[in-house]
Amino acid sequence: MSGRISIVLSQGQSRHPEKRKLEEELVAELMGRPEFDLSLIPNLYDIHWEDSAFLTLEGISGPMVVLSWHYPRAAFWTLAQLGICGRFGKSRLHEEEEGDQQDQDVGDAQDAAAAELPASEAVPAPSGKRPQTANRLIYCIDLRVSSDVQAYLEELERIRQEATTRLYPLQVISPSEDTSGSLEAEMEPKKEAPLRRRWYPVIDYSRCTHCMECIDFCLFGVYGVDAMERILVEQPDNCRKGCPACSRVCPENAIIFPQHKSPAIAGGAVGEAGLKIDLSQLFGAPTAQEIAARERDEQLMLAGRQPVGLSQKERDAAAAERNELDEMLDELDAMEL
Ligand code: SF4
Ligand code: SF4
Repeated sequence: MSGRISIVLSQGQSRHPEKRKLEEELVAELMGRPEFDLSLIPNLYDIHWEDSAFLTLEGISGPMVVLSWHYPRAAFWTLAQLGICGRFGKSRLHEEEEGDQQDQDVGDAQDAAAAELPASEAVPAPSGKRPQTANRLIYCIDLRVSSDVQAYLEELERIRQEATTRLYPLQVISPSEDTSGSLEAEMEPKKEAPLRRRWYPVIDYSRCTHCMECIDFCLFGVYGVDAMERILVEQPDNCRKGCPACSRVCPENAIIFPQHKSPAIAGGAVGEAGLKIDLSQLFGAPTAQEIAARERDEQLMLAGRQPVGLSQKERDAAAAERNELDEMLDELDAMEL
């Protein structure tokens, strides 16, 4: 016997008609089903603790499914950074693309690693906030994987049976008051001002080793450490809009910018063995470390500060990166490809 499950639909930042249509169709379907307890929130990446959407998320104690326009890894760790924690639930709804089996395998391995880690134990609590400790599953589904509402409904039903049977055997189901509202009212859930678009790093704590490279690299005071010497994003809004620099220097690919156009930075599956290989680097283009330093300098200048270039430590890291690429080239030569 399975119970009711919370569904959170995080609206996209853009009012693109196709996106809006999918959101509306999903809301219309989900509102009429008492087994799903639907909450509609603005883009979860833009939410602050003082926003009513945060209270909505905080009020959900059982398993939940989050439908958003982000990669599942990005959505899951964005929630964790807000203190909304659980175990990573694995959705079966993926973008089916020819030749992406390897990415899928890597993604599966990452999901498994995240699932092993109760996020509430891994995420340092920002000052004054305590991560929820619920041993519940949080499933994150990327709304870009399909435009077929039926595909989502089938997956939501599968998840409902899986999540509520396994951890929450039976809940008393009472019809949601929300289901009596009109679709228009549901799609405009907030009378407050629309949320300002934000830009800040999200840390995937299933990968982070707390090496402190990012706090050394960023010169805008975004990162901090907690009492246990664990890295945390302390001043997210100090981050410079559009700057993804520290994600390039993180040796574990643990830093995500969910709104970045590159899947590798936006929380897509991390490449095999965690190597950030860009084939252009094989032909003398800048290393990731050098690109990151250049991006940081651009932001320093935009902020009216002096560029700093590469520190000695960063120069060494760039040299090591180049050596690594040279060795790869030698190996390719040896293979006579
Ligand atoms: S650089 Fe990456 S692995 Fe190191 S502390 Fe920062 S996020 Fe964690
Ligand atoms: S993206 Fe740039 S400004 Fe933002 S945290 Fe990283 S280095 Fe700092």
